[in-house]
Amino acid sequence: MIHRLVRRVQSLLSGGPRLRKTPRRIAQSEHKIDRALVSRSAIRTCEVLQAAGHRAYVVGGAVRDLLLGIAPKDFDVATDATPEQVKSHFRRAIIIGRRFRLVHVMFGAETIEVSTFRAYGKDEPDTDEHGRVLTDNVFGEQYEDAARRDFTINALYYDPSTGEVLDYHDGVRDIRRRRLRIIGDPQTRYREDPVRMLRAVRFAAKLGFEIDSATRAPISRLASLIENVPAARLFDEMLKLLTSGYAVACISQLRAEGLHHGLLPLLDVILEQPQGERFVMLSLARTDERARTGKRVAPGFLFATLLWHEVLSKWNARVAAGEHRMPALEAAIDQVLGSQTEKLAIQRRFTSDMREIWTLQPRFERRTGQAPLRLLEHLRLRAGYDFLLIRCAAEEAPAELGEWWTKFLHGSEEQRAALMQEASTSRPAPGSRRKRRPRRKPAEAA
Ligand code: ATP
Ligand code: MG
Repeated sequence: MIHRLVRRVQSLLSGGPRLRKTPRRIAQSEHKIDRALVSRSAIRTCEVLQAAGHRAYVVGGAVRDLLLGIAPKDFDVATDATPEQVKSHFRRAIIIGRRFRLVHVMFGAETIEVSTFRAYGKDEPDTDEHGRVLTDNVFGEQYEDAARRDFTINALYYDPSTGEVLDYHDGVRDIRRRRLRIIGDPQTRYREDPVRMLRAVRFAAKLGFEIDSATRAPISRLASLIENVPAARLFDEMLKLLTSGYAVACISQLRAEGLHHGLLPLLDVILEQPQGERFVMLSLARTDERARTGKRVAPGFLFATLLWHEVLSKWNARVAAGEHRMPALEAAIDQVLGSQTEKLAIQRRFTSDMREIWTLQPRFERRTGQAPLRLLEHLRLRAGYDFLLIRCAAEEAPAELGEWWTKFLHGSEEQRAALMQEASTSRPAPGSRRKRRPRRKPAEAA
């Protein structure tokens, strides 16, 4: 009670988000953003809107990254023009979204997302019983648009024409101090949108920032509110976290915050399977490496690695109970996908990739007859093989098996024939799981 009162007084004194109406203006000479890192298309979008009498700024993550000297991966623009007005000024532009109407302005392969300044706290927005905002599409002033953004470092506006950065919430200072600070009263902001808790962890891990103590404090208490977020939205945010190039750091941070319990069903699965941890961490480390070197991370592959040990333990149990190996695997997959897609809305296009990658695994063990040659025609061979290599690195499959397939895939016809010959004559090494007995257990989970 007292606590709540103190917090309320503090929030009033510090000026809730609504009170900051005039921004600090930071000149180019001070912030030193490298204009060469700003997308030509984003500059053009701002120029066109400004020439038509509107205000337009690069906003959000792009400005944050520019101030950190990082090349942004995409650019958003915020303007006082309505979506219809924006659309009318560009040849290739479409209005998208229902809850938030945005305009996608397209320049070749690049898309600039243009949003109209949104109101915050003016009309009471529609909320659920936990305070989660359900609809808000009311246009507003720039200062309101700034106040409804999540973190101070994400609420900066860059005007490419003047070179100025407009800063309503001391975001530039926080970037300099490497602090992640939520705008407004943390508890209210997490209740409005519990996904912000996940975003806090992601940004802190990715940028190497410290989470401000008031921003961090309510998280463990409110973590369970994540359960009310629609699964599709959670999946998107989770995917961002896992493909940020800093997934390993994010997961350790979640643990450090005591946040991994109940924050996300998928994370529970990942973090609570001790045998699978080595495999998952290895796979995430590889994903991070790929993401950081600009390579594509296929979500199907990623989720296949994350859920593999759940599949494996169910598969083992079925085989131990006397089921045949392949049908047991298919049934285990159905079970895992059934429960996970419900909770996490893993889209169908990803689940079919996952299933193929998983069912390929026992097929890699067949190295004689026509089997390996038939596998060469499989569409998902490359993904299945990459997956096999992770299993080998995690010492869950024999290293020799991965090496054999590496040679087989790169070999000439003669080399392949020799490899198959070698496989049919060589006896399995002691301790190897490459056995040919019926009813054997699949690769052990240990
Ligand atoms: P990234 O580099 O991961 O894309 P980003 O900051 O650009 O980071 P986006 O999810 O692309 O993140 O969102 C763009 C901007 O929209 C953010 O910078 C922030 O200002 C605002 N925003 C996004 N999600 C929320 C949210 N849940 N609550 C409030 N503001 C948000
Ligand atoms: Mg972004």
